Amino acid sequence: MSSKKGPKGRLQTKYKKNDILTVSITDIGSGGEGIGRKDGYILFVKDALIGDTVKVCITKAQKKYAYARLLKIEKPSEYRIDPPCPISKPCGGCQIQALRYDRQLAFKQDKVREDLIRIGGFEDDFADRILRPVIGMEQPYRYRNKAQVPVGMRGSEPVTGFYAGRTHYIVPMQDCLIGDAVNQKILKIMTDYMKENQVSAYDEETGEGFIRHVLIRSGRATGQIMVCIIVNGEKLPQEKELTEQLMHIPGMTSVSLNTNKEKTNVILGKKLRVLAGRPFIEDTLRIYQVVENPEKEVSFIPSEKEVRFRISPHSFYQVNPQQTEKLYSIALSFAGLTGRETVWDLYCGIGTISLFLARHAGKVYGVEIVPQAIEDAKENARINGIENAFFYTGKAEEVLPAYRERMRKEGSSEKVDVIVVDPPRKGCDRKCLDTILDIAPERIVYVSCDPATLARDLKILTDGGYELKAVRPVDQFAHTVHVEVCCLMSRVKD
Ligand code: SAH
Repeated sequence: MSSKKGPKGRLQTKYKKNDILTVSITDIGSGGEGIGRKDGYILFVKDALIGDTVKVCITKAQKKYAYARLLKIEKPSEYRIDPPCPISKPCGGCQIQALRYDRQLAFKQDKVREDLIRIGGFEDDFADRILRPVIGMEQPYRYRNKAQVPVGMRGSEPVTGFYAGRTHYIVPMQDCLIGDAVNQKILKIMTDYMKENQVSAYDEETGEGFIRHVLIRSGRATGQIMVCIIVNGEKLPQEKELTEQLMHIPGMTSVSLNTNKEKTNVILGKKLRVLAGRPFIEDTLRIYQVVENPEKEVSFIPSEKEVRFRISPHSFYQVNPQQTEKLYSIALSFAGLTGRETVWDLYCGIGTISLFLARHAGKVYGVEIVPQAIEDAKENARINGIENAFFYTGKAEEVLPAYRERMRKEGSSEKVDVIVVDPPRKGCDRKCLDTILDIAPERIVYVSCDPATLARDLKILTDGGYELKAVRPVDQFAHTVHVEVCCLMSRVKD
């Protein structure tokens, strides 16, 4: 350890590479790594958990922080468990599977609270009053409805698995514990087929070989399953036999072949050929009635209403449908609709939230940047017989101001009652927020996948005349550090 002044009198790094020290882990970083503090110095330690005391070796030292490798857990956290998935460590997909699930939830709750206070500038008391307890899963495994599994060779053996770290090396895996149990069966059929027919796997480095990925999607409510085989070619050897075998799996609804001959890490190519069944599967999401008790605990009462979605290999669809139903039902209840309102749903994707809202609103306008998603949204409205949802392709920060301008020119008196936003991680564009403030809807519902940008945007909306009424985190991605949040804001009356 050294803490002396350098030649220019600047403080040198406190620790240097290869220093060994013991530290207590008190936080989780954005990549799931443990964070410890020693004499004001910050240490990032992969595979260490909140509550652990660990012996580490510094691998890279900067002025105020360092990365360190875990050498030994001196005293394990009382919340540390044996992760049920044997490959959770090399895989890295579930960054915090070794943390007891209730502590994962507590960590996510704290993160939202801290960001509200630190970035949003809300007072501690206020944050505690409006922040509701995070909604966790009862069974936090087997929730994902989508798997994109790379295929590779280990010597002469075809394997499916995941890339280790940032390498091209595939760690074999046929069953992922957060994925559907049927995946294992499908992947075994694929590797057996490759062995029997001497079909090669694609090699990312050389660009040679044939099978690249297997994409599997399932409709949780419908039981429908889709397999899409992504190949560096147009046709599979023994295509019919393989397809028949896959079609024998109960629920198999769609088997297709996607051609991707590009040297790219984008998984799907443009060209798709259906080998058996339909080109899509369907799933439904239930709309719940959301009832909150005075302790802010929530119960979800299933309603008769549901929305049906068509999912093709290219479609965007939330990966945890069980939690998505809850998240959207909360967004719907926050919107406070009576059936007459005009609602905008910005960043609408394939129209999932829009269609939930449309069942209870007068009119819904959805805006989304990806044209294919808007096509899917229109098709989804059609198959649900929803006629009061209208979709526009474009940037939220352009479509909304253009609408505002048009209304102004035409002297239209159309009132916007509610605006819902569900932006990507970087949050809303400033122009989009300013236009929302200009339109001044009664209520704003903000659905976010990043509490930090959410807090930043909530501050802008608060400064612009809105009051934050409720913040509800929902655990959409158990065992990862990600957290989804739904917020309600209400316009302060003049
Ligand atoms: N509400 C949807 C999708 C949310 S993901 C759902 O729950 O399924 C965020 C979406 O915003 C993505 O579909 C992305 O394509 C879209 N998007 C990103 N930037 C955008 C922008 N500037 N304007 C409109 N949509 C945008």
